[in-house]
Amino acid sequence: MRDGYGRNIDYIRISVTDRCNLRCRYCMPADGIEPTTCQEILRFEEILRLARLFADSGIQKIKITGGEPLVRKDVSWLISQLKKIPGIQQVTLTTNGLLLGQYLPTLMEAGLDGINISLDTLEEDTYQRITGRGSVRQVLKAIEACCDYENLRVKINTVTLADYNLSEIEALAALAKDRKLDVRFIEMMPMGLGRDFPGYTQETALKRLEAAYGTVLPAEDEKGDSGPAVYYKLEGFQGRIGMISAMSHIFCKDCNRIRLTAEGFLKPCLHYGTGVDLRQLLRTGADDEILRQAIEAVILDKPERHGFCQETAGVKEERKMWEIGG
Ligand code: SAM
Ligand code: SF4
Repeated sequence: MRDGYGRNIDYIRISVTDRCNLRCRYCMPADGIEPTTCQEILRFEEILRLARLFADSGIQKIKITGGEPLVRKDVSWLISQLKKIPGIQQVTLTTNGLLLGQYLPTLMEAGLDGINISLDTLEEDTYQRITGRGSVRQVLKAIEACCDYENLRVKINTVTLADYNLSEIEALAALAKDRKLDVRFIEMMPMGLGRDFPGYTQETALKRLEAAYGTVLPAEDEKGDSGPAVYYKLEGFQGRIGMISAMSHIFCKDCNRIRLTAEGFLKPCLHYGTGVDLRQLLRTGADDEILRQAIEAVILDKPERHGFCQETAGVKEERKMWEIGG
């Protein structure tokens, strides 16, 4: 359905957990978090009931996220059930990749359409400095395994960290040289711990890529299929380079998404704390009509734009990235 600004809202990010097996410095405190209990997070049956209602309200694409979604048991089963919902055309997953080696076959059997793998560096020591654990080698192995599936769209997501990976832009982009995958650079958003990590802009990244690989041209499908990335082609590269620039190129006029936290809070925008507690409605006996009205009210009320770059009216989000699904 369309929101109050005429945007077609057809995409939802559903967080299935706030737990994670990494501690990326800009996302989660090194000493961990007070994780929510099993009772606090939505059961899969609750997610599926809501997903049917989301589909009725025009949602066609679902991204499963977290925390790290693969630390929750049976995510493949959830995906297989989401895929059966009439109107849902795409179910994808975003992951740090560490558990993919174990779960990729069952995810593919479940019908996964696409995967985003977060990787901020190719250097093991830098990886350790950023994430505190895990290994680049393991993530790269998972990326190769994903590329073996022709019908799986693979995207690598790199957050721009001026003090950690500016000098690696060229090497990270080169992952798209001989593989049919997209490498996307995401500008750091000043949320939670991310406020203390300066990023760099799309222009900086593109300039370095141009110096290394020659002219950067807009890709044929420049806007991709589910925003907010803008895509470029480099001569001789099989895959594309994407820029997700929430700060330097505010993309809110094309925003197509809403978000459901692991605790069942439906959010119209990452930046604001507004939304509706669907868990409370679910667990106090709300019927489908009441739930549908609540969902559609959130969509209609979606703010025009985020307010990272200026003071805006409205309630700012105090929850952290791992709590709201990035
Ligand atoms: N654990 C999974 C992963 O890392 O892909 C899914 C959740 S994670 C919160 C989703 C994405 O948000 C990751 O690519 C992460 O790098 C990104 N992220 C976290 N904090 C961010 C921030 N302040 N600005 C921009 N991206 C951020
Ligand atoms: Fe975990 Fe993803 Fe946050 Fe890193 S960015 S700590 S992998 S939730």
